[in-house]
Amino acid sequence: SRQLSLTLKLSHDQLDRTLQTAQELNEMKTSLLYMIAHDVRNPLNFIIGTTQLLTKYKLTLTDEKTQELLDKTQAAAKGIDQLLDDVLLLGRVESGQAGFCLVPLDLAKFCNELVEEFQSSLKLKPENDRVTLIFVNHSQSAMACLEVSLLRRILGNLLSNAIKYSPPNTEVIFELKLTETEAIFSLQDAGIGIPVADQGRLFDSFYRAKNVGRIPGTGLGLSIVKKCVDLHGGEITLISEEGVGSTFTVTLPIAKPGKKQISPATP
Ligand code: ATP
Ligand code: MG
Repeated sequence: SRQLSLTLKLSHDQLDRTLQTAQELNEMKTSLLYMIAHDVRNPLNFIIGTTQLLTKYKLTLTDEKTQELLDKTQAAAKGIDQLLDDVLLLGRVESGQAGFCLVPLDLAKFCNELVEEFQSSLKLKPENDRVTLIFVNHSQSAMACLEVSLLRRILGNLLSNAIKYSPPNTEVIFELKLTETEAIFSLQDAGIGIPVADQGRLFDSFYRAKNVGRIPGTGLGLSIVKKCVDLHGGEITLISEEGVGSTFTVTLPIAKPGKKQISPATP
């Protein structure tokens, strides 16, 4: 009977844990829904506003002003698209359904294109109000096999953070190094930095550091970065000091094209 009561207790504990996980999942889904509603509504209201302006004043607006409004509308729409992509990817990664496809990639070209994308959105700001983005490639040949969509998520989120948390007139330095076995990406900013007390939880979904003030965000970006890095069998490290700046470094194992491919980490 002692054996039986022990087994019963074990099953009971297991049931408790399953129930707790289910509750946590449910809470996460609810906050995800609120977050999407909240974060989609802001850019959506902006799009509605600018399109109304364009319709109402189309005869009196200068070409320059019209173009500026169109560019901002497009940036807002892209923001929604990115958010939805992130949420869907998070769901797929979490349920183990994210596709994994290693393709040979010219990393220097890939990073340059990504930097150009960010630079064109930075150009929407007045010149003396901008963060300067600098890309430095330390490797001669930058061909490697990596998963493009995961890499885009990783670098895109880190770049967007580095820019977002930096004051105007500072530099964000994005560096790429390649060894025989690894690709090392680092992003250094001279921004607000991250308090030591917050550094341990930054990769949790919805966690934001105490010093963000009014800088908008949902706290999802880094949790996506971490999941993508894990899935790639890599690692991410952070050095940061509040008020001084932050450096995020991502190291991913690579296979050179033509050599034996690395196998993806199982989620
Ligand atoms: P989003 O979901 O839109 O990316 P977010 O930027 O707040 O929102 P994360 O990218 O997950 O969320 O980052 C989590 C937190 O880490 C941020 O809220 C911020 O406190 C801190 N953080 C991340 N990157 C930086 C950085 N480069 N400089 C300073 N703080 C940062
Ligand atoms: Mg972010």
